[in-house]
Amino acid sequence: MLRVTEIFRSIQGESTHAGRPCTFVRLTGCPMRCVWCDSEYTFTGGDHISLEDVLQQVRNFGCSLVEITGGDPLAQKEAHTLIRQLCDEGFEVLIETGGFFSTEGVDERAAIILDVKCPASNEVERNHWPNLERLRPDLDEVKFVVADRSDWEYALEVIERYELEKRAKAILISPVWDGIDLKELAGWVSTSGKQIRMQLQLHKYIWGPDVHGV
Ligand code: SF4
Repeated sequence: MLRVTEIFRSIQGESTHAGRPCTFVRLTGCPMRCVWCDSEYTFTGGDHISLEDVLQQVRNFGCSLVEITGGDPLAQKEAHTLIRQLCDEGFEVLIETGGFFSTEGVDERAAIILDVKCPASNEVERNHWPNLERLRPDLDEVKFVVADRSDWEYALEVIERYELEKRAKAILISPVWDGIDLKELAGWVSTSGKQIRMQLQLHKYIWGPDVHGV
């Protein structure tokens, strides 16, 4: 059984896959408490759904791309079985994880979108650094959510320390929603000299910041 907050079809709003049709499986639960979290509704509740029922709902939506998200999907051990089964069935699988749990043991066919928490999240101490060493340049992406200049400088320092331009398929710089001037962030990114990508959460511009399951 999995504890599930919602399963829905939409377009992918983030990462290099932004704009693609995608089915989302949002699992319940996360041990972190990022101050700017936009998924607090996943911390509790959810429905207990069998693995087969989750798979059937995903099949019914008919998207080849599936994202397993949360909360933090890796908070549930059964998520590994779901990921493996989806890969076995030929789905292209993305795992959006907050960076606290180890990505070791995740089916190697699934792509990891790994958050690195910056200081303004108040969860910077909980980054699991070995995850960065497991990134694969042909598949995995790393994301920094930036709230201010200190976060930006922290991101640059981590990018250099772990040579992320070589390790990751993409380095995503994502502004905290309504928390930082987009033009200012765009200026930092454009003059950084780094192989990085500023991303906006496309779904929030389409449906608004508070709408779930679209
Ligand atoms: S890791 Fe993600 S879901 Fe968990 S508190 Fe942080 S932003 Fe929210």
